[in-house]
Amino acid sequence: MYFVGSDLGGTNIATALVNERGEVLKKDKRATEAKKGPEHIIRNMIDAIYRVSSDIGIGSITGIGLGIPGLVDIDKGMSLFAGNLGWENIPVMEEFKREFPSLPIFMDNDVRVATLGEKYFGAGRGVDNLILITLGTGVGSGIIINGKLYRGKTYSAGEIGHTTIFKDGLYCNCGNRGCLEVYASAPGIARRARDYIRAGHFTVMAGMVGNDISKITAEVVSKACDMGDRLAMTVMEETAEILGIGIANYIDIINPEMVIIGGGVSLAGDKLFEPLRKTVRRRTMRNAGEKVRIVPAELKDESGMVGAAALAMEGLGVI
Ligand SMILES: [Zn+2]
Repeated sequence: MYFVGSDLGGTNIATALVNERGEVLKKDKRATEAKKGPEHIIRNMIDAIYRVSSDIGIGSITGIGLGIPGLVDIDKGMSLFAGNLGWENIPVMEEFKREFPSLPIFMDNDVRVATLGEKYFGAGRGVDNLILITLGTGVGSGIIINGKLYRGKTYSAGEIGHTTIFKDGLYCNCGNRGCLEVYASAPGIARRARDYIRAGHFTVMAGMVGNDISKITAEVVSKACDMGDRLAMTVMEETAEILGIGIANYIDIINPEMVIIGGGVSLAGDKLFEPLRKTVRRRTMRNAGEKVRIVPAELKDESGMVGAAALAMEGLGVI
């Protein structure tokens, strides 16, 4: 059986032909071109779906799954709000139904779809209670309870990035202040590194970006850690601690068996995971904290497209 999963991001559209074992058979990655508007973006996704299914023909596809960023109303098939695309109330499903009238099509939020991908074909195989946390430009999460995605009353369950971690912290683009995302996202990590440098701390990071500290990214911080840079290690440990507190709160409420960490920031590996696990142990109730496994995501940059395909498979009862 063949499925197509398409994951819409602020920068790229990632689309794949996937079989029922979650194996990627053909993929297509193209620029989102968000500025050209919703019609152009949806046309781009449709073209990508044709492209990955060109060898077998669209008639051989069993179902299509879509991962859409931001707030999604899955009953109406609408994107309610996607800040990085400039979308508000876009009838996404209508467009796809018009193009593929005879195909079952499913859509959900991109992080939730990635969570399904990890549950069925990644680190969470066989685990019925888990959380996926994505650390990238933003911080998001998806929740699986008793084997099922938990979406919440208004489809916004899992917004860990906008839970308050510092009472009087920095203002966030969501209107709240002290949000976890402001500190633990890739831009948050880079900003804290820059703040330290401006305060006069020595670091190899300045030299790595030709002394233009506006060029410091979370990736630069991670590389500097590998070089043994003390300031970069401090920034990474602080990130792990702030994140660890947020995740410990989450664990005490949900009591999951596994927490999977994905997204670009998670590629920092052990230097993030070790202090993170330590903080979680220290900050959780005894049983929940000792039993939970905190692991990196397995599907990496394929989690969105494989997850979108998994959404279609689950919707059709194939998995
Ligand atoms: Zn916020």
